[in-house]
Amino acid sequence: MTRLSSRLLNARLLAGLFIFVAAAAGAAAPQAPLASVERACERIGERLKDVGVQGCLDAGLIIGEGATYNGMPMMYRDFVPGSSRRTPFRVLLIGGIHGDELTSVAIAFQWMKKLQTERLQPFHWRVIPSSNPDGLLLPASTRTNGRGVDLNRNFATPDWDAKALDRWRKVTRYDPRRFPGSAAASEFETRWLMDQIGEFRPDAIVSIHAPWGVLDYDGPLDPPQRFGYLRLQPLGVYPGSLGNYAGMVLRVPTITLELPNATDMPTNAQSQRIWADMLGWLERNLPRGEPPLYQRLGDSHWVQR
Ligand SMILES: [Zn+2]
Repeated sequence: MTRLSSRLLNARLLAGLFIFVAAAAGAAAPQAPLASVERACERIGERLKDVGVQGCLDAGLIIGEGATYNGMPMMYRDFVPGSSRRTPFRVLLIGGIHGDELTSVAIAFQWMKKLQTERLQPFHWRVIPSSNPDGLLLPASTRTNGRGVDLNRNFATPDWDAKALDRWRKVTRYDPRRFPGSAAASEFETRWLMDQIGEFRPDAIVSIHAPWGVLDYDGPLDPPQRFGYLRLQPLGVYPGSLGNYAGMVLRVPTITLELPNATDMPTNAQSQRIWADMLGWLERNLPRGEPPLYQRLGDSHWVQR
């Protein structure tokens, strides 16, 4: 933890310096935080017609620590099983890490509604429906966050320093949609998600994307073959991706759901089928896996750097 903390402290100092220099150069300064769930839900509900302001409020989200560059809170909610004889496995569900994949946020809200009534499901869920709220809420939603960074290339994987920027230059040819940041974990949202993983210590992670219409998996178990109409198709492992960080480094089974369309929702039947197949796979497979790295190594080793 101490090495990570000092790296994060450095990253924070650098980010602060960057913001100071950017502000001095006349760029937009960070905005004052929108501190309430009500205000945040007004904005999210207006952007996502499939959710609506009331739908967002009904999710019962709470606000985590800190705020994004554009002043949005990070919101989440836990759901615990109605009754359980043993400690339930924990599953972290993350929507909208790419802000322009609107359905990935909307379906997380849909599944939260399900979790409010489904008392028989066996897991302790933590749901973060919109993990890149700035990208979602910019006048035209963007893949990147409010500072132009692809959060799914910004996680602190061991290969980041050697490969992330090099790959961005040579393979993506400076694609602004895939900018991995100026340093590993340079972004508030990335650090917040890494903190969530370190504190919640999930036994599995599900991250929702669009529009490739497939299923991907990183981690120690045999991958799922099919959830509803999404079939397994490995999309590759990238420096700084969540699948790399959580699945390969921390050895947490990490499922990536790629919905087939970024703006049109699956039908209710399709969404229901994905959910049911995923729940079945988690129920069958989590008891077989070995605990993720942080559960084997103890508190101070949840990230390897
Ligand atoms: Zn995506």
